[in-house]
Amino acid sequence: MSSDLVATGIDAAGAVAVARSPRPSPRRVSAGPVAPPASGGLLEIDVRVEFEAFGLQVEQAIPAAGVTAVFGPSGSGKTTLLRSLLGFEARSRGRVALDGDLWLDSGRGIRIPPHRRPVGCTFQDGRLFPHLDVGGNLGYADRRSTPAPVAAAPITRDDVVDALDLAPLLDRRPDTLSGGERQRAALGRALLSRPRLLLLDEPLSALDRQRKEEILPYLLALHPRFGIPTLYVSHAVDEVALLADRILVLAEGRVQAFGGTVEVLEHLDLTSLTERFQAAAVLEAGVEAHDGEYRLTWLDLDGQRLSVPRIEHLAVGESARLLVRSRDVSLATERPSPTSIRNVLSGVLVALDQDESTAFAEATVDLGSHRLRARITRASAVELGLAVGLPVFALLKSVSLDTRAGR
Ligand code: ADP
Ligand code: MG
Repeated sequence: MSSDLVATGIDAAGAVAVARSPRPSPRRVSAGPVAPPASGGLLEIDVRVEFEAFGLQVEQAIPAAGVTAVFGPSGSGKTTLLRSLLGFEARSRGRVALDGDLWLDSGRGIRIPPHRRPVGCTFQDGRLFPHLDVGGNLGYADRRSTPAPVAAAPITRDDVVDALDLAPLLDRRPDTLSGGERQRAALGRALLSRPRLLLLDEPLSALDRQRKEEILPYLLALHPRFGIPTLYVSHAVDEVALLADRILVLAEGRVQAFGGTVEVLEHLDLTSLTERFQAAAVLEAGVEAHDGEYRLTWLDLDGQRLSVPRIEHLAVGESARLLVRSRDVSLATERPSPTSIRNVLSGVLVALDQDESTAFAEATVDLGSHRLRARITRASAVELGLAVGLPVFALLKSVSLDTRAGR
């Protein structure tokens, strides 16, 4: 792995992470045919699945480029959508096409079987062939696949083993692997099927925090390195904020929102879709300068300054994506006198949602082109005299800006 891949992650408090943005273009890994036009194609989805107690109805065209998160709470239909795209959902009706190639058109009786759809997938449990070691699992995919005609460069077994550090695992059987190792092997197998589309179903959700942090850099590196359009299913806002270029939000089997990551996370009522403790905002800030002495990076957010532990992998002028959890934001009505909290942003309170069944309220602060959320107690909202329209200062706790840079 190159050093810029390990410099990103979810911090110890799960609070803030920083990712490169915009994404680098796919790295050519070996000589090969001329790259496809950068414009990419389209994944056209118009599917319905009816179960006894649940219906999925999704109509959305998605650019077949970059990473698209399919985001929604448990039971919202994410896996059912993926299974429909894979061809595993016999009850799916409607139409699915990738770059104009029809996979499903139930009206015309077209239903391409799963093994003929050029899709690589991984499941939550990191499913592998149990009777084959990791090398055997990779070999199976390698032998059965044909290089996709649109591939920027043929994906080789060596590339995949290198990208996912699989060399030490090649002789191991799946039942001897940790959850994270299984996911890495499953990702390798999916890549070696040389798909035109990768479908990853909650690759991190079965892992504990430490394992998540170990595997996240690999996931972040996949798209830049191999350039395969990816649908990344998750119910965790921090993963989505880091990994995705755009987000499709599902709730109760329907599309709630679709758009760029920052925009969707900013406007969505995340509290209704995610656990309250997950509520967060995504900020995009430009790198203004690196400070060698204190090992800080200065960021510019619409004219306001932020400092974070030095982000080694971003150059001045590049932009960083910050995830700020609402529980790590405090509010003040006056600029605080010197404090150990380094990041104080001024804005205007634009919403205050009280949750009468708890001690908490969620405040939304407009910073200009960004919005922050703060989780405060209802009692402090009263003591501060908070009201919509009031100028406020948002204090971002220092822990929330741990970028894990340079580890
Ligand atoms: P998610 O992946 O977002 O957690 P799923 O797509 O797994 O959601 O499930 C959505 C809903 O569909 C759930 O209520 C689930 O119980 C139901 N469901 C999924 N598969 C089937 C099935 N084969 N038969 C009946 N109900 C199903
Ligand atoms: Mg699921």
